[in-house]
Amino acid sequence: MTEVSPIWYPFTQHGLNEAVPRIVSASGAWLTCADGTRLLDCIASWWVITHGHCEPRIAAAVAAQASVLDQIIFAGYSHPQADAVAQALVDIAPEGLSRVFFSDSGSTAVEVGLKMALGYWHNRGEARHRILVLEHSYHGDTIGAMSVGERGVFNAPYAPLLFDVATVPFPAAGAEQVSLDRLEALCAAPETPAAFIVEPLVLGSGGMLIYPPHVLRAMHEICARHGVLFIADEVMTGWGRTGTLFACEQAGIAPDLLCLAKGLTGGLVPLAATLATTEIFEAHRSTDRARMFFHSSSFTANPICCAAANANLAIWREEDVLGRVAALGAALDRGLAALATDPALRNPRRIGGIGAIDLEVKDAGYLSDVAPILRARALEKGLLLRPLGNTIYLMPPYCTTDDEVAAAFDTIGALIEPLARGAG
Ligand SMILES: *Cc1c(COP(=O)(O)O)cnc(C)c1O
Repeated sequence: MTEVSPIWYPFTQHGLNEAVPRIVSASGAWLTCADGTRLLDCIASWWVITHGHCEPRIAAAVAAQASVLDQIIFAGYSHPQADAVAQALVDIAPEGLSRVFFSDSGSTAVEVGLKMALGYWHNRGEARHRILVLEHSYHGDTIGAMSVGERGVFNAPYAPLLFDVATVPFPAAGAEQVSLDRLEALCAAPETPAAFIVEPLVLGSGGMLIYPPHVLRAMHEICARHGVLFIADEVMTGWGRTGTLFACEQAGIAPDLLCLAKGLTGGLVPLAATLATTEIFEAHRSTDRARMFFHSSSFTANPICCAAANANLAIWREEDVLGRVAALGAALDRGLAALATDPALRNPRRIGGIGAIDLEVKDAGYLSDVAPILRARALEKGLLLRPLGNTIYLMPPYCTTDDEVAAAFDTIGALIEPLARGAG
């Protein structure tokens, strides 16, 4: 196949010449390709679409804002849409998060969180630089975000430039105490850490690895006791994905820093926010200009994106979004239960609107050969699926119906059969 497009795609090996369908429109849980075929968006277009594609209220807010105020420098200027988003976020976020810093993506929300944590200690005159991370985590693809994520094939070329972190083992079932003991030891070490960054309850890119709220609560308690800042990366878990608005709610914890992106606008346009406590904000407030928070990007708090976020926040206030997530969760459970009868499938798991199961393969891991095969076959059958190595997961928009979920599982079951028999 000769490539006709000059585009260099993300997370794509161009040498394999995999098909790149052109999507020309979307509505609800469905995508329409240039050739007219339709695809069910089983992964919410990479975990961003919450309610559904082209959600009418959000789409209308974007259209209206685009002809009123498109863009304005956000250093020294503000606008009503940003004021409204910030206040609404503080109102719904865990207690104590009183300041909102806008950026554009999950990676930048994480970078901002890390910089705020380091700035906090710097401005207090304490030399704390060490960041603690959870094994198998993912926080984005910029250098700082990669540094706090799992090391591997994804970042090997950049490894010499990534900063050093200390890793807490993933709290696998039965080994939770090992993780907590390690975290305790790292917090108590002479080189007191600056912060611990975690994906609450689910490690997404790490393979939809789920751990219980009581472990999250215990990790938070250890950090609080040692004065180590707790950064919750809810870029994926936020906005109902785990069955509550934020995953932290299930553990009853309030982090010091909270990173939001993806579903903040319902997924229609990019916007991110990092929420901070008064204490972290106050450590930067001074009459000394050298202590300000030195971070921005051109489109910080873009008014059109903020208008989308306000429309999303109104939906959350006025509609039973969590009821939809619960219904979706029940449909995922039924589908997973049916699939789990296949001996080649292991470890069915579900939290909120995320369901996952692992296919037994010889080459388990992100580069498992089974992932691109499944992806291509699912595409032929009308499903947008993107397995994480040998982990097959669904994270559909909340509008996806029971019948659509059931049909997706039927299709997946049929796709897996030849692979499971080794004939794939
Ligand atoms: C997707 C993701 C990010 C990165 O977000 P981008 O918007 O892709 O930069 C960070 N953290 C988590 C937990 C994510 O799932």
